[in-house]
Amino acid sequence: MKKEKEDEKTMNTVNTINELREQVRAWKAEGLTIGLCPTMGYLHEGHASLMDASVKSCDRTVASVFVNPIQFGPNEDLATYPRDFESDCKLLEAHGVDLVFHPEPAEMYADDFCTFVDIDVLSKTLCGKTRPIHFRGVCTVITKLLNTVTPDKIFFGQKDAQQLAIIRRMVRDLNFNVEVIGCPIVREADGLAKSSRNTYLNPDERRAARILSRAVRLGQSIADEGERSSEKLLAAMRERLASEPMADVEYVEVVNGENMQPVDTFREGDLVAMAVRIGGTRLIDNFTVGQPPIEFQEGQSNAD
Ligand code: AMP
Repeated sequence: MKKEKEDEKTMNTVNTINELREQVRAWKAEGLTIGLCPTMGYLHEGHASLMDASVKSCDRTVASVFVNPIQFGPNEDLATYPRDFESDCKLLEAHGVDLVFHPEPAEMYADDFCTFVDIDVLSKTLCGKTRPIHFRGVCTVITKLLNTVTPDKIFFGQKDAQQLAIIRRMVRDLNFNVEVIGCPIVREADGLAKSSRNTYLNPDERRAARILSRAVRLGQSIADEGERSSEKLLAAMRERLASEPMADVEYVEVVNGENMQPVDTFREGDLVAMAVRIGGTRLIDNFTVGQPPIEFQEGQSNAD
């Protein structure tokens, strides 16, 4: 049973592992449960849905805001990744978060840091093909956060479906004592999955970006009609994506929902995932076979 907060205490921010541990220790001494929501900041309603889920089911919620350098490849957008900590804090406070962990990179990675958590198999497909060190960076930072906060629950979005599957496997393989909660994708009114990186899109690109959710919805309707051949499903989705001249498809694939390996014949629980570049921006979207169809307003774009 979730305990009510006695005081209307404002949200605290800490920048060091020691301060974070101290706060966690105090809460645990009171017998309080803790939810952890890791983020890279520049927060939007997608992130907020994780906070809401945590606040609802845990006594205290910790959000981390940290652009994790070791999950970015050499030619990726670490330097330009959007940041706005002040506005992040407003959103976190409004959603009832109790503590924000906002470390400097040096607090997380000493100069001689050289220990990584690397996951095999699941990290080799989908995004792992073009981002070979990405999931190693994710697993390493999440391990550090789990070791520090030792939360009861940790919250991730299904938008990053491969990441969610990887964290589930890592938690199982390494016996972390935490429940992993996946939260549904939050979308803009026109269907585009909310993402901090959407801010990179100019108005034309923003309009073109609608093609991802259009392809998702097409794929869902084909699967709902009973199609089970990955080849046929993907051919239709690729054709839909190709109808948008600005879309440069990195991949569209059907994989087993747990091990992320391609399947020829798909079934409920399998994952249909894509990465598509619009202009210079890499966007991802997905659906799990059997999930209710996504909803959005036809012809609507925030850029219109
Ligand atoms: P990020 O800040 O991009 O690393 O995302 C932090 C967490 O928020 C991850 O677990 C994401 O999957 C989740 N997230 C980001 N965008 C969305 C969205 N549109 N819907 C649901 N969850 C999201």
